[in-house]
Amino acid sequence: MEKVWRYIESLQQQHPFAKIIQVYGWEEQFETELISSVIPYLFEPLDIQEHLAPITNQNRDGCIKPKYYIVIHDTGDTAAHRNAQFWNQVVWTEQNEGKPYGASFQYVVGNDGIYHNIPDDEIAYHAGDSTQYDYTLYDTGVVGEALPHITIQDGTYAINGIATTIQAPLGGTTENINDLGILCQSIQGKYYIGETYYNETYHRVANRGGNNNGIGIEMCVCQQTDIYYTFQLAAKLVAYLMDHYHLTLENIKQHHYFSGKDCPETLRRNHLWNHFLNLVAVESHMLGFTQEGYAITCIPLSSHILPNGRITQKEQVAYQICIQKGTKRECRTFYTTVISQ
Ligand SMILES: [Zn+2]
Repeated sequence: MEKVWRYIESLQQQHPFAKIIQVYGWEEQFETELISSVIPYLFEPLDIQEHLAPITNQNRDGCIKPKYYIVIHDTGDTAAHRNAQFWNQVVWTEQNEGKPYGASFQYVVGNDGIYHNIPDDEIAYHAGDSTQYDYTLYDTGVVGEALPHITIQDGTYAINGIATTIQAPLGGTTENINDLGILCQSIQGKYYIGETYYNETYHRVANRGGNNNGIGIEMCVCQQTDIYYTFQLAAKLVAYLMDHYHLTLENIKQHHYFSGKDCPETLRRNHLWNHFLNLVAVESHMLGFTQEGYAITCIPLSSHILPNGRITQKEQVAYQICIQKGTKRECRTFYTTVISQ
């Protein structure tokens, strides 16, 4: 039990924060104050509503592919009624308020829960990188183990300044490589580069394998919802999928990585991507404790905390965390202040 306490106490150093953010959507954008939770962990079980699209749908072709990525999106849709259940219905019916809808994604997450639309191991149509190319690694002919820095020189990729044998896509330059770079791994001292392409819509060099080899998760950014709660639910889902498919934080990618699109826009433009990955890392760590039989709960001692750890007002907060394993139960009290950023 002491190791769990040590970890939870280490999380106390990450003070809860409040921050004004801009939420982006095609109807309109709005400003909201994001308040984080008592610790970067959501004290509630993962609950998934299974409502898979019919196999006869055009947006569910049933093709099974190995999964190497979890692809994070937001809906870019701020209308209050377009929540997770709404989007699950859109994928299910292939109709978006009367218009035909061809896209699909494995999960959609909102304040109203997590909906499962397409089986994890099937192709879904969310990443904008087509389904013609699978996750592939090509031997670059360059050796080394240092962190690779990729550039494009005379139409060819270079790693840390050394030319490879891999052609860059036509139109690709060092400057228009997407913000997250291209897939490059050093395996037994040799660098390999993934399948890439030039995205004509966003004019960026991007990676393949999003639709085929990714599990797509949409996050709703609706008005009048607790957007931080949606981020935490999504992080809990990602941690579960990482564990289930033996993936690491390296495998968690933005939609941007596969197309150059500014998605998930609200996380990206408010510089919250690394914070989101931290939520995933904490959820993942806590999932490990849960699998060892520890039950970890939060008991609010202030009126502005919910039992799931959400803080609803920027005040001093007091809460207890209890850990139980078998018949052994221990609770500790914590006090903290929400810091405005
Ligand atoms: Zn997206």
